[in-house]
Amino acid sequence: MHYKKLTQADIDHLKSILSSERVYVGDQILEDYAHDELAEIKVFPDVVLEPETTEEVANIMKFASEHHIPVTPRGSGTGLCGAAVPKEGGILLITTRMNKVFEIDEENLMAVVQPGVILLNFIETVTKLGLMYPPDPGEKSATLGGNVMTNAGGMRAVQYGVTRDYVEGMEVVLPDGEVIELGGKVVKNSSGYSLKDLIIGSEGTLGIITKLTLRLVPMPKKQVSLLIPYASLDDAIDTVPKIINAKLVPTAIEFMERDVINAATEYLGKVFPDSSAPAYLLLTFYGNSKSELEEVYEQAAQVCLQNKAFDVLIANTKERQDSIWETRGTFLEALKAMSHLEECDVVVPRNKVAEFVKFTDGLEEKYDIRIRSFGHAGDGNLHIYILKDELVEEIWQTKRLAVMDEMYQRAKELKGQVSGEHGIGTAKKPYLHDSLGLIQIELMRKIKASFDPLNILNPGKVV
Ligand SMILES: Cc1cc2nc3c(=O)[nH]c(=O)nc-3n(C[C@H](O)[C@H](O)[C@H](O)COP(=O)(O)OP(=O)(O)OC[C@H]3O[C@@H](n4cnc5c(N)ncnc54)[C@H](O)[C@@H]3O)c2cc1C
Repeated sequence: MHYKKLTQADIDHLKSILSSERVYVGDQILEDYAHDELAEIKVFPDVVLEPETTEEVANIMKFASEHHIPVTPRGSGTGLCGAAVPKEGGILLITTRMNKVFEIDEENLMAVVQPGVILLNFIETVTKLGLMYPPDPGEKSATLGGNVMTNAGGMRAVQYGVTRDYVEGMEVVLPDGEVIELGGKVVKNSSGYSLKDLIIGSEGTLGIITKLTLRLVPMPKKQVSLLIPYASLDDAIDTVPKIINAKLVPTAIEFMERDVINAATEYLGKVFPDSSAPAYLLLTFYGNSKSELEEVYEQAAQVCLQNKAFDVLIANTKERQDSIWETRGTFLEALKAMSHLEECDVVVPRNKVAEFVKFTDGLEEKYDIRIRSFGHAGDGNLHIYILKDELVEEIWQTKRLAVMDEMYQRAKELKGQVSGEHGIGTAKKPYLHDSLGLIQIELMRKIKASFDPLNILNPGKVV
């Protein structure tokens, strides 16, 4: 599709909407804005805009739709599939100045915020009030808008669900500049098609979120983490369905391997609390009393010990828990520091996690390439990384594509889905199309066309 190339007159008009210090062109545009954390796909926008209000966003979109200029929304740019890259140039609309927490409504357990609020700041704000925002994706510098647009998951999904489960309402600027309100401070809603749920996870292709109403829960009073060493990753992962089958609901179940732990401790310059095993499960339980927690975690410990665990190490102080979770939170950064890599973020039924990980071990041998994995074993969402190491570009590309094809094919056979939490962007588009098939993709394209008939909002992504 051909879009209008921005002229000086267009830039001047945008400066009249925003004031010139929030409009960046030419050398003022940082290299960071040409990519996200995937960094594989790089395209510079023609202009970067930093709106602060809904009205400014609406005026930008009116202007863009009248002049057929592509607009790519961006939060913090921590995405992992190229979704915030301005593939067609045009306007990059950054939301990080839309960072107001308007209200924490403790009577309704809701927060009303702008989309550019940083997750970490939001967590700190609600924690001070004894409240919790349950979605817990690893990258805390992401924006709440970016989290909603990717339907971010994270560590606590086993017990609490994902971002979608905590979005009750939103204000959205449509591609033509109209502003709509969806949902609100209500905990139930059966009022027609849920446009709100269509927008969640749509990666900035249907509208721009300018306000969010998010559900909060009381902060549980106690938490404990168990670090459980195993002789192999297979043994560790094989235990997960048994924990679930024992009707225990941990808040988080993560698996991790020695290599990845070593990379993270080296990266952090810190020591991991245990060095006895090649693989671990990490379980966390939340509860409101010591006795309630003890009963559940002791049962979980028994299940693990009956299933080849060497030991169960209990982290019941904040310091110990923080040290383990800090290491877990650094895995991706540590792998990235070690080698260029490609990510696969599939989700499979929880009782297929072990089978899928064993399959990727086989690929490591078959293609003679390093593959490392960690992930949310409790919800079936795996993060598998193919490492380029010293491979020359041509061989890397050939091996990378072959391994990715095999992994997505296997995930499909196991009735899994292409992305558990990172989304599709441009990087995962071919796999999505293959996984869902033409009928579903055509339905999605019709939805896109009814929101955005001119295809100006984040073109080229998802569908
Ligand atoms: C080290 C690391 C760990 C991570 N761990 C996790 C994890 O555990 N779980 C997880 O789910 N993700 C994780 N991520 C991925 C990433 O942090 C999430 O995808 C996050 O939700 C992106 O938020 P962002 O503000 O950076 O959005 P961006 O990357 O800027 O944008 C993401 C998408 O949202 C759109 N968008 C952003 N704001 C708006 C808006 N207001 N309106 C419309 N569209 C908008 C963009 O166009 C783009 O399509 C991790 C990333 C890194 C680097």
